Amino acid sequence: MSRHRQPTFTLTTGPVNCYPEVLQGLARPVLYDYDPVFQETYERVSRKLCKVMATDEPPLILQGEPVLGLEAAAASAVSGEDVALNLVSGVYGEGYGFWLQRYCKELLEIRVPFNEAIDPASVEKMLAERPDIKVVALCHHDTPSGTINPVRQIGEIVARSGAIFIVDAVSSFGGMNVLPDDVKADIFVTGPNKCLGCPPGLSLLSVSEAAWRKIESNSTAPSASILSLSDWKTAYKASEPFPFTPSVAEINGLEAAVDRYLEEGEHAVWARHALTAKACRAGAKAMGVRLWPASEDIASPTTTSVTLPEGVTDAALRGKMRDRYGVMISSGRGETHDKLVRIGHMGPTAEPLYAIVALTALGSALSELTGKAYDIGAAVTAAMEVITKAE
Ligand SMILES: *Cc1c(COP(=O)(O)O)cnc(C)c1O
Repeated sequence: MSRHRQPTFTLTTGPVNCYPEVLQGLARPVLYDYDPVFQETYERVSRKLCKVMATDEPPLILQGEPVLGLEAAAASAVSGEDVALNLVSGVYGEGYGFWLQRYCKELLEIRVPFNEAIDPASVEKMLAERPDIKVVALCHHDTPSGTINPVRQIGEIVARSGAIFIVDAVSSFGGMNVLPDDVKADIFVTGPNKCLGCPPGLSLLSVSEAAWRKIESNSTAPSASILSLSDWKTAYKASEPFPFTPSVAEINGLEAAVDRYLEEGEHAVWARHALTAKACRAGAKAMGVRLWPASEDIASPTTTSVTLPEGVTDAALRGKMRDRYGVMISSGRGETHDKLVRIGHMGPTAEPLYAIVALTALGSALSELTGKAYDIGAAVTAAMEVITKAE
């Protein structure tokens, strides 16, 4: 029997536990969507998002968790004449190929092992060989691996080629320095349910002028559809109609998250994520656990993925951590399932001392399962050294 009906600590890679301010936002009265107060709220939240995303135009807010935004981007921007290039360094990157394939004429791929990152030089070479590539897609932080791709360098290269650059920044945006215009993304897809500390339910998309031109010239781009981007283009204005009912409560929660983010300041938020991950990695190494990424340079500041020791299954390890210690962490997915487990540092759990909680539960569970002593004391000391040294 589990000692914990509810987890005491949810240290997953999403959904994450929300910030208390967000829960208060969600509890505001649910207004009629055409109540002028809600219409103004929607425009105000959209304009605050310009600040958070450093864009001139407000992002689109789609009314469904970020998979909606990702699929809608492919459906809208990719036409039947297009050659598309998908960059695959993990399960989400690989998955994007299914949507590209559905809409494009020909799909090309660059693939690396799921503990490595895409080499920008390989993208440059492919674009030189195939100047007919019209769309390039990249997952910035492939969450099931906990690895980061060099999005800025790849963005420069794609921009020079004239192709449209679609970026999945769902689990990195808000937890590190990744902003749509800065990385030259044409369609930048993210959501509030990872590093902004909201529940799943909305997609945020920044769309460049070039991407709008591509969408508007695509005769098969959806309209009057849940997958449409163009339906929502002007919906942020209080004077314009919504194509359908927006998720009123989620918008209120998002406003609370955005206010909190702006108040803390982006650099402080990013530093908090980076420090938590750095402490977690130091502790994991000190107790004899292997990190999954091939190099620490590509380890994510919002996720720490650790390789499962020989003979330990995902179910046994995460089950023990959950049942015995009340600590819930994430499994691998697809190809990384049963090869690694993942500790999330996202939004409210990007607090350095949560790294200690995760490490002690992880080390104790591993010791019990393997009969080998994982040195929790060494892990705590190493993690605290990182934390104490920080400004
Ligand atoms: C979380 C996440 C998404 C959204 O997908 P769900 O698993 O359905 O929440 C998309 N891309 C990445 C990289 C993510 O981490």
